[in-house]
Amino acid sequence: MSPEISPDIIVFFQNRFVPLRDARVGILTHALNYGTGVFEGIRGYWEEEQEELFLVRPREHYLRWKTNCALLHIHVPAVSELCDLTVELVAQNRFRSNIYVRPLAYKSAQRIGVHPDERADFAIVAIPFGDYLDSRSGLHAGVSSWRRIEDNAIPARAKICGAYVNSALAADEARRNGFDEAILLTESGHVAEGSASNLFLVRQGKLITPPVIDNILEGITRACVMELARRELHMKVVERHVPRSELYACDEMFFTGTAVEVAPIVRVDHRPVGTGEIGPVTNLLRRVYLEA
Ligand code: PMP
Repeated sequence: MSPEISPDIIVFFQNRFVPLRDARVGILTHALNYGTGVFEGIRGYWEEEQEELFLVRPREHYLRWKTNCALLHIHVPAVSELCDLTVELVAQNRFRSNIYVRPLAYKSAQRIGVHPDERADFAIVAIPFGDYLDSRSGLHAGVSSWRRIEDNAIPARAKICGAYVNSALAADEARRNGFDEAILLTESGHVAEGSASNLFLVRQGKLITPPVIDNILEGITRACVMELARRELHMKVVERHVPRSELYACDEMFFTGTAVEVAPIVRVDHRPVGTGEIGPVTNLLRRVYLEA
């Protein structure tokens, strides 16, 4: 997990660079009461040899954020401007470690009443960041009793703050039940994704992942891994419905996400995945992804 966050780090808040300790919102803020915010998560990797910090696909992340903000009628600056702001933010903090960048746009009016008005604000916070889940020896995942939210209720694709209650319930239940992470099914019983990650199965040499219509977030790491599997490993990659029982029949399984990277799953619902060891395809994709 991330270490203690210093209140001295510089964040971009209400159009200014200020210390984190001064970036505060009021208790009646619309987004705090009703979940009307949209966030993103971007990783930066510190390269010791080059003494440089590299942001991973910031344009793709900001394009997704801008599109998702528009869904809630929140306007944010152009993608290029957001990338420049982030570079400036990182430079001001002089980070010399891996980081995680959290852009957050939110309905900012301070009043009671669920219908939102036009008032909105955004912030960008960057913090030093280590492993999100310690997955080196493989994770034990459990199918959640909570179902993935439907696109027609709160679009899962949109990274809307309020929607993450669904993820929080599933992640909390998983940990209380002794699992490392949850796997959520859709209302119709198809496998969707993890609480904050996409899911891949390896079966008979093919890479399989649930389709976007199964209420998943269109993960940027998911897209990278599909591309790398096709291009570097010459694997067939299939997006299709995954029935729950296939979780117990596959050879390998892993989560992908900005925070989790490529995280192997070696047990699911108290059953070994394949041999119960981290599989060769997972190992290879993890390596190729981190190298890329
Ligand atoms: N699904 C959910 C629900 C997530 O919150 C995340 C993390 N953003 C992902 C998948 C992975 O997406 P990405 O690879 O773009 O980080």
